[in-house]
Amino acid sequence: MYPTRSDLIQFCRLMFDRHYLISTDGNVSARLQGGFLVTPSGRNKGLLVESDLVELDASHVPKNPSQKPSSEFLMHRVFYEERADIYAVLHCHPTWATVFACTDWELDDCLMTESVVGLGSVPKAKIAIPSTSGLSEGIRPLIRSANAVLLANHGLVVGGSNLEDAFNRLETVEHFARISYLARMSGSPSLIDKKTVRMLEDLREGYGMKGPFINCKPCATAKNLEELDKEEIKRSIVESILQKMR
Ligand code: 13P
Ligand code: ZN
Repeated sequence: MYPTRSDLIQFCRLMFDRHYLISTDGNVSARLQGGFLVTPSGRNKGLLVESDLVELDASHVPKNPSQKPSSEFLMHRVFYEERADIYAVLHCHPTWATVFACTDWELDDCLMTESVVGLGSVPKAKIAIPSTSGLSEGIRPLIRSANAVLLANHGLVVGGSNLEDAFNRLETVEHFARISYLARMSGSPSLIDKKTVRMLEDLREGYGMKGPFINCKPCATAKNLEELDKEEIKRSIVESILQKMR
């Protein structure tokens, strides 16, 4: 149930191979019985070996004092404190999700059936200095109802019930961000109507999807099915693209 050092290295390499980790970017952690396993700070996470990983005790102190844990463990801790169902946390700066983190666009379009079922919308935490409590406390209220959070002008953080679950969410966010960006740039994104969104939501349990979901803002705020005007949302997205081009 708890991951081995080899498991953690495997997911660091996967993230590196997919270009989700560049240079010394990003960090990975997992719960252990009575502690945590986390990547070291300032290293290229694609090149780590098992002995580089830092084991922390339950008070977050490295068992080997000569090792330096990730500077972002404070942010990972918030996931473990707030969510008893989270056993692994991944942070990185993947290209497409980070584009949404670095613009005023929200990653909340109901565009792809799979992302409505498996992800919901991805909230964005306000800009904060990396590794500080400003960043970790900024995500705290958001992760109570989301498994993935964009960090403004920085990147993405994702939690999961194990390393594979967290990695799947990371991949889904990055794919969703890429499709959302391209669909918006097409000038003609085809949004899923609210009735279908509700049917997709009902599929979540059947697929074994657990944890909180946030629906896209228009769906979440519309009081009834008729209130959601698909054409209106499309118009506002296209208008915001045109404004940026002017
Ligand atoms: P660490 O190398 O300290 O984990 O930091 C990488 C990073 O992405 C900072 O936000
Ligand atoms: Zn970072």
